[in-house]
This record gives sequence, C-alpha cells and structure tokens, in this order.
Amino acid sequence: MTPVDAANNVLGQFWDLTLPVDPIAIAGKMGITVYYSDDLGDLSGFYDEEEKEILVHPHESSQHQRFSIAHELGHSVLGHGTSTRKRHAPSDFKERSANIFAESLLMPAIAVSTLVEQRKMTFDELCRAFDVSEQAMGIRLTELGLA
Ligand SMILES: [Zn+2]
Repeated sequence: MTPVDAANNVLGQFWDLTLPVDPIAIAGKMGITVYYSDDLGDLSGFYDEEEKEILVHPHESSQHQRFSIAHELGHSVLGHGTSTRKRHAPSDFKERSANIFAESLLMPAIAVSTLVEQRKMTFDELCRAFDVSEQAMGIRLTELGLA
C-alpha cells in the first residue's frame, strides 16, 4: 500500500471530517497514545511499536508537533516498527514515506481542493484551516497541482 493510500484509508475509517485533522484523536482511535516528552533530545518524535505510544517534543510549534505525530503514525500504519523522527531526517525511503503519509493525513486532498477551488481560500487561510506550516502547505499544493 502506498503512503497516500494508507493515509486515505485511515481518514476513511477514523477522520470525523472536521478541520484541522486531529492526529492525536485519530491515533487514539487506532489504539495509539500520544505523550509529550522532555527526554527526546534532538528527536521531534518517536514511535514505540511495543507500547503503542507516540512521544512528541513539547517545545516545538503546534504545527511541527502535529506533523511529527502524523509522521510517527505513518511509521505505525506502514509497518515500519519502532521509529524516530529527527529534526533533519535523512531522506531515506521510510522517512519519505512517513512524510508523504503525514501530508496526506493532515491535508486531505478532497478538503484542500474543495477549499481552494470552491471556497477560494487564500494561502494564509489554508495554513490556518489545516493548522500546518507554510512550508507543508506549499509542498501539498504543488503535489495536488493547485499551486
Ligand atoms: Zn520518521
């Protein structure tokens, strides 16, 4: 299953169709608990397969935390096992897959295209509606051919 299909699958089962998408609520519905941890050092996030826990850094921006949680959830759903997220992650296959999963989960294609094409939202409005960074939204709009 591709990361995009995996994210759409999770959205289909666990998303309540409200924005912004809440990765903590979705993780909870999947039996995974999210904790904030001061002990992560230079990691943004960590997924513990045995404990079914995602640990996230408490001192980063809300947008960064949300992305880290969605990214770690991606490692879980994609069967990568226990995984970490470094701030400047090497762009290996699993990291890229988890990032694609996270983008697809936090910025569902159907919601983005509706708000852009029908509601004519501005870029700033989109970043607020989805509670993501400008960088993440820029990448997503390009991917979806909406930039
Ligand atoms: Zn990762």
